Amino acid sequence: MRNKCKQCGQCCNDVWLTWSPKELRVGFDAWDNSKKGVAYVGGIHLIYPMLRFKFKKGKYWHYRCVHVEQRKDKKWYCGIHKIKPKMCEQFPYSGGIDLRMGGKPNKPSQYEGCGFNV
Ligand code: SF4
Ligand code: SF4
Repeated sequence: MRNKCKQCGQCCNDVWLTWSPKELRVGFDAWDNSKKGVAYVGGIHLIYPMLRFKFKKGKYWHYRCVHVEQRKDKKWYCGIHKIKPKMCEQFPYSGGIDLRMGGKPNKPSQYEGCGFNV
């Protein structure tokens, strides 16, 4: 299977970002203080509240999303699918956020076995 999500859940249980929890908070506060009109990080109003910090490795901060859930069919689902942030919608081809850790055209995702890797 290629270029199709297998719903393995890796990318939601281990979200890689170049932003620290503190930076996410600053972005969220900027959005909040701008009367919820402006955000320099798209979707920060969703992103900041949904992530739980796990660990830092190299330049990446790892988080788990609170909205991911495994159902009876053993597949992982997004609990806010209809309104999920752009970085999730576009994964692993997100333009604004550096999530293309694989770094190769045939391996855009950093997760082994991801359906978007050849
Ligand atoms: S790692 Fe890839 S296959 Fe797994 S849930 Fe994320 S996008 Fe889908
Ligand atoms: S919002 Fe949905 S798609 Fe995005 S990380 Fe959370 S569970 Fe995954």
